[in-house]
Amino acid sequence: MPRLTQTITAPNGLKYEQPIGLFINNQWVSSSDGKTLSCINPATENEITSVHAATAEDVDAAARAARVAFEGEEWQGIVGTARGRLMLKLADLVESQQHTLATIEAMDNGKPYSQALGDIEEVFSVFRYYGGWADKNYGQTIETSRAKFTYTIREPIGVCGQIIPWNYPLAMAAWKLGPALACGNTVVIKAAEQTPLSILYFANLLVEAGFPPGVVNIINGLGREAGAALVQHPEVDKIAFTGSTTTGKQIMKMASATMKNITLETGGKSPLIIFDDAQLENAVKWAHYGIMGNMGQICTSTSRVFVHENIYDTFLQKFTDYVSKINVIGDPFDEKTYQGPQVSKEQFDKVLGYAQSAKEEGASIFAGGEIAQSRPNGKGYFISPTIVSDVQPHMKVYKEEIFGPFVVFVRFSSEQDVIKMANDTEYGLASALCTSDITRAHRVAGKLKAGMVWINSSNSSDFRVPFGGVKQSGVGRELGQAGLDAYSSIKAIHLNLNLTTSI
Ligand code: ADP
Repeated sequence: MPRLTQTITAPNGLKYEQPIGLFINNQWVSSSDGKTLSCINPATENEITSVHAATAEDVDAAARAARVAFEGEEWQGIVGTARGRLMLKLADLVESQQHTLATIEAMDNGKPYSQALGDIEEVFSVFRYYGGWADKNYGQTIETSRAKFTYTIREPIGVCGQIIPWNYPLAMAAWKLGPALACGNTVVIKAAEQTPLSILYFANLLVEAGFPPGVVNIINGLGREAGAALVQHPEVDKIAFTGSTTTGKQIMKMASATMKNITLETGGKSPLIIFDDAQLENAVKWAHYGIMGNMGQICTSTSRVFVHENIYDTFLQKFTDYVSKINVIGDPFDEKTYQGPQVSKEQFDKVLGYAQSAKEEGASIFAGGEIAQSRPNGKGYFISPTIVSDVQPHMKVYKEEIFGPFVVFVRFSSEQDVIKMANDTEYGLASALCTSDITRAHRVAGKLKAGMVWINSSNSSDFRVPFGGVKQSGVGRELGQAGLDAYSSIKAIHLNLNLTTSI
């Protein structure tokens, strides 16, 4: 019998039991063909453990379990208030285990422990928020004619497949699970192959909170195998995906065969515009947060910074000084560390490849663009924060999503020009601007083609506010009340009150 748990001692000395199997019907099982995926600590390049990788057969078992649970009395039979109570209990359990969950996240993903703790706070906050919504997602009564009574009810969609990325593993799972459970759906989650460990640990908390078997099933596996099987499974009614635009397009195509409901949150190349009347210190701080947080591995990163020509040189210098002060590179478990490694060798190579491409295309590397000299023990996927200036619109680093601590600077001279440049991208996830002119702030915010605009800040999302993009940045919205729309469908009911009268 293959092992389904392993005792792990994390780099901070925490010893805990790590589940490594597939979580189906509230039970741990092994993969049908015995294949596993290796989990690497990106700060040390050492293997932490390996987890079972789901085959199409395993995905089928998970989807069927979710279907049986969806139809079953144990889940169907409880009202929203009771679902909400389960979710609040789950939130309490996550909060009580935050040290362990943040440790796992930091070890598996490479993010600094302090930032991982912030992720876990987001997780339990999201469950509390949606737990509160569970009995408040009403339909309407609609006045039509005296002869009939017409109303709508909100129903769960059914079995939801949720495909999770590696940049915020447990937080992204919570963004999807929160509204799905509040609305009464059942779920099969596929973790990203790079970062399955926190989601697997979390599975046991679902059982402890009292969720019936099959309501949430958690699998690991390769995207092209387990992910694709989930998207194509006939028992799956909805797919919610966060990841790259390329994969999002493949998912859209695959989901079309059974016309599944889909929510996609894909890539971005978000602009941040700094006008010459901006409060400079504030703008520098947010420009930094917008691209350097989470090692730049955020879909809403403001990775293109447009600065007015009057302040371009001063701003660039201040920004560079700020980066060299704040971006302390080191062990994710060292309190002083701001910047950990990129998540994987693949991402590390990709980001370094963009530095090379910037040089080849004639941009000027103002800072960084290489393996971090200060990486601990000369190992790990650490990159020095990279600032590229005077970038032109035809360059790859201007157009493509890099997903690293890598920012490009562009000069502009007029509001009209910069709006055009900011919108000149296939993406439309987020955007940001810094100015002291409130009228201009609203005018420009209205013209930016993006799902979200931050004024005098950057990347400051909030789980109470809808999140999502336009153009090739996605389909639909997550979070906030809008997140409930993605997980419920409206049924209209027409009751004829007077059978003898024609309408
Ligand atoms: P990245 O390239 O940054 O790893 P992806 O979009 O490929 O981002 O991955 C995000 C998630 O999508 C992961 O859970 C991954 O396993 C999954 N995935 C990748 N390819 C597919 C696919 N063809 N079908 C379904 N899921 C996929």
